[in-house]
Parts: sequence; C-alpha cells; structure tokens
Amino acid sequence: HKPSGSVFAARSTQEWQQMDAAHHLHPFSDMGSLNKQGSRVITRAEGVYLWDSDGNKIIDGMAGLWCVNVGYGRREIAEVAYKQMMELPFYNTFFKTTHPPIIELSQLLSEVTPAGFEHFFYCNSGSEGNDTVLRIVHQYWASVGKPAKKHIISRKNGYHGSTIAGGSLGGMGYMHEQMPSQVPNIAHIDQPFWFGEGSDLSPAEFGLKCARQLEEKILELGADNVAAFIGEPFQGAGGVIFPPETYWPEIQRICRKYDVLLCADEVIGGFGRTGEWFAHQHFGFEPDTMTLAKGLTSGYVPMGAVAIHKRIAEPLIAGGDFNHGLTYSGHPVAAAVAVANIKLLRDGGIIERVKTETGPYFQKALREALDASPLVGQIDGAGLVAGMQLTEDKASRKRFANGYEIGLKCRDYCFKNNLIMRATGDRMLLSPPLVMNKSEIDELVEKAALCIGLTARELGMV
Ligand code: PMP
Repeated sequence: HKPSGSVFAARSTQEWQQMDAAHHLHPFSDMGSLNKQGSRVITRAEGVYLWDSDGNKIIDGMAGLWCVNVGYGRREIAEVAYKQMMELPFYNTFFKTTHPPIIELSQLLSEVTPAGFEHFFYCNSGSEGNDTVLRIVHQYWASVGKPAKKHIISRKNGYHGSTIAGGSLGGMGYMHEQMPSQVPNIAHIDQPFWFGEGSDLSPAEFGLKCARQLEEKILELGADNVAAFIGEPFQGAGGVIFPPETYWPEIQRICRKYDVLLCADEVIGGFGRTGEWFAHQHFGFEPDTMTLAKGLTSGYVPMGAVAIHKRIAEPLIAGGDFNHGLTYSGHPVAAAVAVANIKLLRDGGIIERVKTETGPYFQKALREALDASPLVGQIDGAGLVAGMQLTEDKASRKRFANGYEIGLKCRDYCFKNNLIMRATGDRMLLSPPLVMNKSEIDELVEKAALCIGLTARELGMV
C-alpha cells in the first residue's frame, strides 16, 4: 500500500476536515452536523479496498456508490484516459460531427445489450439519463402521432436521480418535500415491497396486486394519455428490494396491452450487478428504453446513456429534429473509458464470473451467516447485490418503529470495523465491486455478520 500524495501533497486528517468543512457542501447531507463531526477522508483505493487519511484499510461493500464494478486501480482504464486526453480531450457531437471513441462505444453497447438495442444517446449521469428518457418518450409519441400520451407512471420509494425530473420521477417523499415545483404529469403507484407491505398475501399474490395498480392508474388517467412506466428492475437506493417473481411479467403484459412504453432504470442493475449484463434479464422482461450510468464507466469518469430499442428509435430518427443535448453528450474521454471498462467486464470474464461463481457464493455465504440472526428478517439479492431487512420479529415480519435509527446503529458498527455497508432505513445494503474474489467475499460477509450481530446484542436480542 502506497501512501497518498502523488497528486496532492499529504495534509493531516484534521487539516483536510477543516478545509472541507469551510468550503465544501456535500450531497444529501446535513452540513451543520457533518461539519461538527468531520468527514472521513478517503485518500486512495486498490481492488476492493479503500484507505483513509488515518491509514485504515476499509473493505468497500458498496463499490463506491454502486459503480466501481471493475474495482479500483485499473491501469488499463487509466492509460486509455490519458491517451485519449492527449489525442482528443474534447470535441462536441452537436454540429454534424462525431469522433472515434463515441462510435466505438456505440458499436460495443449494441453488442452487449439485448437484441433490438441499437441506438444510444449520451449524457453525464443517471439523473440526466432519466431526464433524457422523458424527452425521448415524449418525442416518440409525438412522432407517431399520439402527442396526448404525456403521463408517466413510476413508483413510491423508487429512485431516479436528483435533477428536477429525476426527483419528480422518484418516489422519495423527503425529496419531494424540498422540491415544491415538480415536473407535471407524473403519477406514483406502490412499490412491490412484500416484507413491508405484503400483509398476509403470498409474495406471488402481492406481486400481481402491485402490478395491477399500474393497470388501475392507466385506466384512471386514460390509456390514450399514458406515455410510459418507469422502474428500477430492483429498487437500489430504496433498499435493494427485489420484487416477487410475478411482478415484472405482469407489468410488461399491462404496458403492452395499453400501448405504454416500459422504461427500465438500469443505473444500478446494469453492467453485471445481478450476474446478468442487465437486471431486467434477471427478472425476465423486455424494456423499450434502458437508463445507464455508474457501471458504464465503473465510475472512473462520469457518463450516462439511454439505450433505445429500435421500435422506439426508428420513429424517433424519422421524426426530425430532437432538441436535446448536453455539452458533454458523448465525451471522448468518458467514451474511451467506457469502452475499456466494458471490455474488461466482457473479455476479462468479470460478469460471467459473477453469474457462475462469485455471485452464487456470496448469496449463499450471506444466508449461512445471517439466517440464524433474530435481527434479519429476509435477504433479497442476486449476483453481487443484497438487501438485508432488519426486523423486530422474524415470524410476524414486524418492523421497528425506529428502524431508521437501528439501521444507523448498525452502520456505525460498520464504520468502526472498517466495512462499507449502507443503511437505508431498516435495510442494510451490500453491492461490492464485481471483481471481489471468494476470500474477500468471506471477509465482507464475516464483517457484515459481525456488525449485525453487535447491533442485535445492543438491542438485547441475543
Ligand atoms: N437511477 C438510479 C436507479 C440510481 O440508483 C441513481 C443513482 N443512485 C440514479 C438514477 C441517478 O444517477 P446519478 O446520481 O448518476 O445522477
């Protein structure tokens, strides 16, 4: 392990914290209390490990923010970025112009995405990707002569980003509260969260019930007015919630019946997270658009994209001007990094290994370590992603009244034990880099079980 200091000279933790508190506003944070406490300063990373400014080695159970799929320190990617910066760091793709990196990336994406996805529009993030999905959906319906189809249906406790459109599509109440002006014509239906909301229905019955809310909402708004349904194949930020198996096939049936586009937000699920290239393949449905970001570049540089099925792309292409774009739509360095990253995922066998080896190993190890814990009511997951539901009573699926605080208690133990595991309310989440090997998985699962065990002990449950 090399100390940091090759780009910026080392400072003391305290000095960094003071400068950070003085000038930096963090996303999704209460800055008043964070500044009193001081932020953790991460200085470098390698493989699946991070180091902080005090020299602690931390295992990253979250792949950064669900994004560093190929792991940290990949020279193959850094070298490509350097070369591309020297050759052509930027040129736009607005004015009848293109460049090799974005051409190569588009070709490669058409190879790794399912049949029918042949066209890609680029942006810088998942949020911008979902803004772009809205623009594409509306442009599509206008170009096929149905401009009245304007309403979009999404879900409570879904997450689609933090731009005004992303936040409006998302179903996070706390974001809506701070966002009085929202994008209009967006309606939310319930999430398919069986543990919390399934009452005495079986998961299969509950999955159908949730999906049929979509049909009710379409009929309420009028099918002629409904443009699209958007959802994450599994809810990521909402707590790694895997819907019952009956859910997606029924959603798809309803979308097709009423001529409503089906938009998959693959920002977290894409690029191998579940062991499939895209999470909708795990759940067995066929979307019309896919929002991509995070694993597209493994977070080495920002990039987002929308993959558009040819049944949508063709009318769009025939439909004249599409008045949407960003300075960095198709940024050459991001595109070159994405190509290098996707080649590692594909030709390096990383996704294949998650599907056949490390994914099943992780899922089994997690259940073996935690099934006996009285605090864990259910584990959702596939490949290298999992959500662990904390519960007051397993048999009755009783949730804690103060579940949010208990999640944070557990998260504090993770901090102390050099483990990155995220708490979302009363669910603990893991989503490690896809290159994590079996002995690192053993360490991750052991630490997760330790921290959940310490929480259970503090609650007097063991
Ligand atoms: N969609 C989903 C499903 C996400 O999880 C996220 C981010 N976590 C976004 C969209 C927004 O992406 P970004 O933060 O890159 O804007």
